[in-house]
Amino acid sequence: NMAEKSRFLAISDYRTKIVTAVAVAALGLHILLFAGSEFGVVRLDTEGSFVATLNTLFNSGTLVLIAVLALATVIFLQNAHVSNVLAKMKSKREIDDQNERLAFTDEMTGLPNRRKFESKLANLLDERLVSRRPFAIAFLDLDGFKPINDFYGHAAGDDILRQVALRLEGAVSDKGFVARFGGDEFGLICPGIGTEEEANVLGDVLSEVLCAPYDLDVRKARLSASFGFAVFPEAGETAEDLLHRADTALYESKRAGRGKVSI
Ligand code: GH3
Ligand code: MG
Repeated sequence: NMAEKSRFLAISDYRTKIVTAVAVAALGLHILLFAGSEFGVVRLDTEGSFVATLNTLFNSGTLVLIAVLALATVIFLQNAHVSNVLAKMKSKREIDDQNERLAFTDEMTGLPNRRKFESKLANLLDERLVSRRPFAIAFLDLDGFKPINDFYGHAAGDDILRQVALRLEGAVSDKGFVARFGGDEFGLICPGIGTEEEANVLGDVLSEVLCAPYDLDVRKARLSASFGFAVFPEAGETAEDLLHRADTALYESKRAGRGKVSI
């Protein structure tokens, strides 16, 4: 994945820099020795190797010391540069992760958003088109939420939406996936629901959970929700068809007087 790849690149980048640093330091040492021979600090022996002249032993020792210090400095600077680069990559990765989280999260309720819902649905569909195991999706929309907003105020409305999100997550828990689409509309993906009867049972349970009174600062509010389910593969074999069927079913529930579950 991306994180592994950038870590790998960072490490190979680091190695390249160390090799460069050693090469630069070795070249530097050679230049110093040549310069040293010019000034008689070091000379070539019969085999062509550099040796320090006796009377300049101290000076050649100084040369070696300078070379070692130069090498150490180069390695230190390269290291500092590499860790700087690594730190920058890490913070960029963190920002990318955060952006990704934000792009797939509904800010107000903290639930996954519609984009996340669609990506989850696409993944599940890929899997179930092969295994042919059924699953269900559902849309739900709160009934008469606009008047609640008007009556209790927008902040209280937001509060209720957050409570709805918590209740749905609690009731669905590991049996499915809950998302907020926006406004007072939510979506569910239920990988374990295989029949219309099971969908009906879940819808009734969730309906009851959402009908319990909502604690507001001064008083309690009550509301109901309408549900529209679609079961794969009967209702469709593409995300588009399933979403359309769930939407139609939700509309049915609204038309039939609200607070209903339709499939
Ligand atoms: P219905 O029974 O047909 O669903 O009608 P409704 O009153 O629930 O209204 P509808 O679902 O058509 O529209 C949802 C309303 O929710 C519209 C808007 O006033 C309100 N709303 C949308 N987003 C927010 C929000 O983020 N916070 C609050 N407090 N209200 C919102
Ligand atoms: Mg509504």
